[in-house]
Parts: sequence; structure tokens; C-alpha cells
Amino acid sequence: MLIGIAPHRKTALLAALGVGLASLLGCDGGMEAPESAEPTSAPAETLTNTAADLYVASTTLWRPMTVPVCWENPGADATQRQWVRNAVARTWEARSGVRFTGWGTCPASSTGIRINISDVGPHVKALGNGLNGMAQGMVLNFTFNNWSTSCQSQLQFCIDAIAVHEFGHALGYAHEQNRPDRPSTCTEPAQGSSGDWLIGPWDLGSVMNYCNPNWNGNGNLSATDVQGAQLTYGVPWESLGGGFLSGPAVSSWGAGRLDLFGRGQDNQLWHLGFNGAQWVGWEALGGSLNADPAAVSWGANHIDVVGRTTDNSFMLKTWTGTQWSAWASLGGGFNSGPAIASWGVGRLDIFGRGTDNALWHKAWNGSQWVGWYSLGGNLTSDPAAVSWGPNRIDVVARGADNSYMHTAWNGSVWSAWTSLGGGFSSSPGIASWGPGRLDVFGRGLDNQLWINSWNGSGWSGWQWLGGDLTSSPDAVSWGSGRLDIFYRGPDNTMRHSAYSNGW
Ligand SMILES: [Zn+2]
Repeated sequence: MLIGIAPHRKTALLAALGVGLASLLGCDGGMEAPESAEPTSAPAETLTNTAADLYVASTTLWRPMTVPVCWENPGADATQRQWVRNAVARTWEARSGVRFTGWGTCPASSTGIRINISDVGPHVKALGNGLNGMAQGMVLNFTFNNWSTSCQSQLQFCIDAIAVHEFGHALGYAHEQNRPDRPSTCTEPAQGSSGDWLIGPWDLGSVMNYCNPNWNGNGNLSATDVQGAQLTYGVPWESLGGGFLSGPAVSSWGAGRLDLFGRGQDNQLWHLGFNGAQWVGWEALGGSLNADPAAVSWGANHIDVVGRTTDNSFMLKTWTGTQWSAWASLGGGFNSGPAIASWGVGRLDIFGRGTDNALWHKAWNGSQWVGWYSLGGNLTSDPAAVSWGPNRIDVVARGADNSYMHTAWNGSVWSAWTSLGGGFSSSPGIASWGPGRLDVFGRGLDNQLWINSWNGSGWSGWQWLGGDLTSSPDAVSWGSGRLDIFYRGPDNTMRHSAYSNGW
């Protein structure tokens, strides 16, 4: 996907495809689309990113990644407007972190994308946030009496496919055939100006490519379109509602099962469960918390949740399959919320940042509690902990320089603290989907989600996942190749993103 500025013009594509194909495509009106008065240069500022070939006009990306949309001249076309809304939801919103909001009638002036409905060639007048508040910034055709009349017989197909393409422009993506690395087999002339961030190889299947044998990709994003959308607007997420004073805690007792916890505005612990098919909850579980909770499961139908209470000691609550226990005190006095891990049935390891800023540890060995003991370090956040198997624990926390630090228990000794680098505005989250695998998450200084993964031999380095975080993240895995990540959004609801060998 190429990032730049351009209008949409479909007839050029059809001309290149030759006689006869137009009827297969169905939407060729045989007319030359009017050219819009598009800008001819893209912003020059570049964005640094380690992920891939780069070619983005970074200043046109919408930040935050929630974009208002309104209709300038809605008429008796609610069905067509809903097709547009659905087409955008099915593609860009479902496969990336961007969200389009509003969709009402435009006031005299407004921010965001202003859509004008007109029987002309669909186009945008600028790229990405260059459309912000621009009158007739996006023009969509609902009738096709003058332009591309063959769309009259495939009205929804045309409106859907055009909407996906034009909203691609509105996100900051130019025509794929503009790329300097396009093959000679694509002879479409470049339309509009080019960006400065190439993502992935040249993509014939892009919805932004006039050379795509399927017109506008039939309104379906290609794999590279998805990759580009996620590199520019982050990975998909869903809101789970609620209103929270804390970040999340999450555990899983088996495949398809998630248990999410947070500190509500009443300071109680609140719980939401995912049973493999749907989310069920929220339920209040009492307590009076003053920090982010932490949760772990050592087996089916068993959950342990730990939180800090008003005297800064830690409290434990346990689900035994039929009911929740009362809160039990674990003692201590802490500068942070807790972390909890389990390497097997009957085992718990609990961590906190003491008043001396060192990491403190307490363990349940199946019959009694051992600790608290200091493990040293100089923490500036809550710790996070996970186990990938018997006698193994990995703990991460933020250090004095706002990077994350890591230590591990190998069954006999704790390793020295080592830095994972980065710069963070919150405590980390950590998950493991199996022996030798770690995924560490953090809220960067940009308040967005970052991941660094250990594959058994090396760290991946920090990679951007988008989002707009107002808390630290927490994460869990229920199986190989699977991660579930949670954090609080700007509206204080909990958000969820899932990785299953792809976001
Ligand atoms: Zn276009």
C-alpha cells in the first residue's frame, strides 16, 4: 500500500484492462471521471518505524485514531448511507484500530470527514487528515445517472467498493499504481501525488490499485492492505464497556476462556468472563482497591485475584469453581499494585514493589505461604509476572530510566535484572503461550501499545500496535500462537485485542 494523495478514477483502470472486461466489472459507465482538484504534494515529514519498507506521509495520519464523519446533504438515501457505513466497518474498522464516529448530518462547520453526495466521479480532495473539516472533502455517488451508469444495476456493489477505496484515501493511502516499484505489467498512470512510506511489496490486490483485476478489489482488503492499515492505525480492538479507575487484570483457565478484572469507580473489584462464545458480566466482587489488580489461573475453574487495599497491603480472592472466597490478607506494604503467576496446580507467586522500590516476593507452595522476601531492583511501576512451566517465573517492571527491566527464576536462582529498552508511561503486561515464549506489552510515552517478544533465543525489539491507552496493559495466552491483550481506553472502558497467528 502506498501512502499519498489522490482522487479516485475508475475509468482509467478499465481502459487499461481492455475491451470487454468492462462488462465483467459491471460498473463501467464508459465515461471519463472528472478529475478533482487534488493537492499535488504530500507532506515531507517521515515517520520512523522498524517494521517494513516504509513510505508514509506521516502527518496525514489521524491522531487520535477516532475520526468524526458526517453527511453534508443526506436525502432519502438512508439505505445507501448505511451501505457506506457497513462497508467501512467491515474493512478498515474491523481490521485496524481506526474508528469512524458520528455519521449524522454535518453542522455548518465540523471537524473530521465531510461527505457530499453527488452524481459525479467519487473522489477526495485531500489525503488523510488533510480532509479535516474540509467542505465536500469526500464526494460519493449514490445514483450513477451521469457517471458510471452501469452501476445502476449493481448499486450496492459499486457503493460498497467505492466507499472502501475512498475511505482508504481518507486514511492517508494513495493509489498503489503510483509506487515506484510497480511492475511494467501495470500501465495505469499515477493518480495524485505519492507518499513516502512503502509498506510491503507492490500489491496488485490492493483496494487502492487501479491495476487490480477486481475493481477496487471488489471492496475487499488485501493482506497487504490489512498490514498497511495495522502499521498506520494499529491492530483491531473491541470495547468491553464498563467505567474503570484502573487498568485490567486478566487470566485464562483454558482454551477459549478469559476472565477480566478491573477496579470500578466504586473501588470494588469487577469481573467479566468470556465463556468461549460470549462475554458475561460485569459483576461486582467487593473489596476496596487502590491499585490495578492482578489475576492468574492454575487450572480449570480456578482463579486467583490479588489487589492492593486501603492500607497498601495485598488481598487475595479465589474462585474455586462454584464460588468466590472472602478476601484474605497477604500483608505487606506496597508502592504498587501486585503481580501474580502460577507454574502449576497449587502454586502461586505474588510480587509487589515495596516502599523501598525493590521487588518483593511471596509464594504459596501448596500448603503454606513463604515470604515476603526482597529480590532487589529499583522499580518505578507495578511488576508483571508469568510462568511458562514448572519452576519458571519471568518478572518485568519499569526501571528508573522508564525502560522495562526483566528478571527470571529458573528453579534455583533469580537472574540479574536486564533492560528490555524502550520508554514507557506505565507498568508492563506479560504473557507466555508456551515454554521459551514471552510477550511483553507496554504503554509507550506516546500512550500507545507496544510489544516485545522473546522467541526462545532473542527479543524481537519493540513494535507499535496502536491503540489509545489510559492504563497499563495486561495480557494472557490460552494456547500456542494466541494472545489476548486488554487496556483501558480514553473513555475508561476496557478494550480487548486478540492475536491468533495474526491480529
Ligand atoms: Zn482513488
